[in-house]
Amino acid sequence: MEGGLKPMDSEQLRENAHRMVDFIADYYKSIESFPVLSQVEPGYLHKLLPDAAPDRPESLQQVLEDVQAKILPGMTHWQSPNYFAYYPSNSSIAGFMGEMLSAGLNIVGFSWITSPAATELEMIVLDWLAKLLNLPDDFLSTGPGGGVIQGTASEAVLVVLLAARDKFLSRIGKSSLDKLVVYSSDQTHSSMQKACQIAGIYPENCRALKTDASTNYALSPDLLDEVISQDISTGLVPFFLCATVGTTSSTAVDPLPTLATVAKRNGMWFHIDAAYAGSACICPEYRPYIDGVEDADSFNMNAHKWFLTNFDCSPLWIKDRNALIQALSTNPEYLKNKASQANMVVDYRDWQIPLGRRFRSLKLWMVLRLYGVQNLQQYIRNHIELARQFEGLVSNDPRFEVVTPRVFSLVCFRLLSPDNDGDKGNKLNRDLLDAVNSTGKIFISHTVLLGTYILRFAVGAPLTEERHVHEAWKVLQDEASKLLATVQNN
Ligand code: PLP
Repeated sequence: MEGGLKPMDSEQLRENAHRMVDFIADYYKSIESFPVLSQVEPGYLHKLLPDAAPDRPESLQQVLEDVQAKILPGMTHWQSPNYFAYYPSNSSIAGFMGEMLSAGLNIVGFSWITSPAATELEMIVLDWLAKLLNLPDDFLSTGPGGGVIQGTASEAVLVVLLAARDKFLSRIGKSSLDKLVVYSSDQTHSSMQKACQIAGIYPENCRALKTDASTNYALSPDLLDEVISQDISTGLVPFFLCATVGTTSSTAVDPLPTLATVAKRNGMWFHIDAAYAGSACICPEYRPYIDGVEDADSFNMNAHKWFLTNFDCSPLWIKDRNALIQALSTNPEYLKNKASQANMVVDYRDWQIPLGRRFRSLKLWMVLRLYGVQNLQQYIRNHIELARQFEGLVSNDPRFEVVTPRVFSLVCFRLLSPDNDGDKGNKLNRDLLDAVNSTGKIFISHTVLLGTYILRFAVGAPLTEERHVHEAWKVLQDEASKLLATVQNN
């Protein structure tokens, strides 16, 4: 290869990767200088980049200059301390180094034999995390279950839905697919619906049960029981229940122990989605939120949300790994090897959708080792304390209200409409969201609960400190004052 970089060369790697690390470190140093929410117009990048790849190699310097001038302005800065939208997606020094190591070693660990360390480290690290979360022993790799790192919570719910589907169909016959019914609440993440679409569950058999303020938007076991009874009476087969600990809209917590009883009574697969809030459950004081997990068939949390592990890393634990393997395994000649044939090893390719898989456990291992449990617990507690402070600030301003009780580090709140009009109130809050996000100083997001437009303030970025939360509140107050002045003048 003429000129420029070789495909691989130790010294070139050393020099260039050092420069890249410097670039990233400088990015973090100046991260507060960017508008948190990118302010570019759709299609902006087409105008800035050439139409075709270069014939001749360019220098890293040229590329980094383009990143600085053309890419960073088109980025929404998820790692900014002023990022309070959706849920966090943490990066950390340990997570970054794990990711770097994984990229550097670049193995593809689909079968044990393709890199025994990748499979075995994943099993060990997920056992560590399961113990930290005090999950039942059935989820450990030493029994019939075990943990696996999926890319996302969406993949996690899909693979367990497929496992449950096939387990049921093998009992009641493949032609009964149209009878299978899935239950969740109307607050369950849309990944449940997507999983049903992919798994071929009939759309009319997907029950998103209504929630309201009386349960803080948690799924009602009585309603679930009632709907299941109706379904059974019409010949349908309840087979899958997804409960959420920390819903996406408002961190509602479904009552796991009672739901588990309903699931057990009806012989259903019980999955728990704790994508965001699972991380908090490493603190003993938040662990009760997942009481009932003992009776679940599968449990998932996203380490890439609030556990200092760079995207992507979504640990999933399952009690019966055979159910997953039955649904997902294939056995082509070209993948056969002694260890797999002798059933002596775990082959994670049978626990997931793709064949290829990255060495993701490295970053989780690095996070656990380089921070340690006490610092990780402190990290979570600090964010929850900052959210508590924000909740206090909102409560002390009579122009605003906190809409749902804060459970973890998300505050759901809204600006009250001066004339108490629902539609005007929704518009007012939509305008407030646009106004604060257009300042570039902070980024928050919204949801709608029972027709009411609500602002979400989620604390969880690694660099967020008390001052950022207080400054964010000032931005919200200032923009609210401006909006209320225009409303009152009209
Ligand atoms: N479940 C819950 C409760 C979530 O909040 C989210 C995303 O925010 C998801 C699932 C989907 O996560 P992923 O992007 O990992 O699929």
